[in-house]
Amino acid sequence: MSGYRAVRILLLLIILLLVSVNTWLSQTRTTDWQEPLWAVVYPIAADQLPITRLYVNALSEDHFEDMERFMAREAQRYGVVLDKPLEVKLAPPLEVQPPEPPQNQSVLSSIIWSLKMRYWAWNNDNWQGPEPDIKIYMRFFTPDYDRVLAHSLGLQKGMIGVVNGFASIDYQARNNFVAAHELLHTLGATDKYDPRTSFPLWPDGYADPDRKPLLPQSRAEIMGGRVQVSAGWALMPKSLKQAVVGERTAREIQWLSP
Ligand SMILES: [Zn+2]
Repeated sequence: MSGYRAVRILLLLIILLLVSVNTWLSQTRTTDWQEPLWAVVYPIAADQLPITRLYVNALSEDHFEDMERFMAREAQRYGVVLDKPLEVKLAPPLEVQPPEPPQNQSVLSSIIWSLKMRYWAWNNDNWQGPEPDIKIYMRFFTPDYDRVLAHSLGLQKGMIGVVNGFASIDYQARNNFVAAHELLHTLGATDKYDPRTSFPLWPDGYADPDRKPLLPQSRAEIMGGRVQVSAGWALMPKSLKQAVVGERTAREIQWLSP
């Protein structure tokens, strides 16, 4: 190993250590549920089409209220005393695109992407208000049935989520379902579905794991991501009205003691 390479790796490790300490501190602060969490949604016309821009420019905070209602309703079920655990604010549309997530799943490439993403987020902040606890970049595409949206992602404990969604009022409730899923990742919640089939995993990924008969389920656990309708069929819920925070997720985000 050359000296230069060693210095570079050492630098990367130091940055990583600083970022980890900082994240750990902000995570302890964000999951004590003593005061409302602030999330800011940064909308982006990702395909840069005029019709997508029209949609993005017409968004208002009302379009994200169901996320607040979902968190308030579910927190209350677990005895969190806060009336409004989540406050969602809307930043003006961003004209820049976030760094592309890595194609391969190696630990090093996701660490590098996560550092790039944080730097990009810090550098491209157009939000004029108190520093948010969580930043959600919502990338919009014009609805197209042939298009498969890339995976949305929430930096596990990184306080940043990237959500890919469709630029249509018919899809906004679903976009917000994905945003709530990614937001809970940033608070430490883990996925509860099988990545090969996208089917939710029983019991933690089911909204009603004790139901008899078990199928069809009628709601989704937020980190399970889908409603299992029959053995070979699982659907994305239409909105957060059809979603719950299951017990395991509630423990992960400190609504219940572990
Ligand atoms: Zn996930």
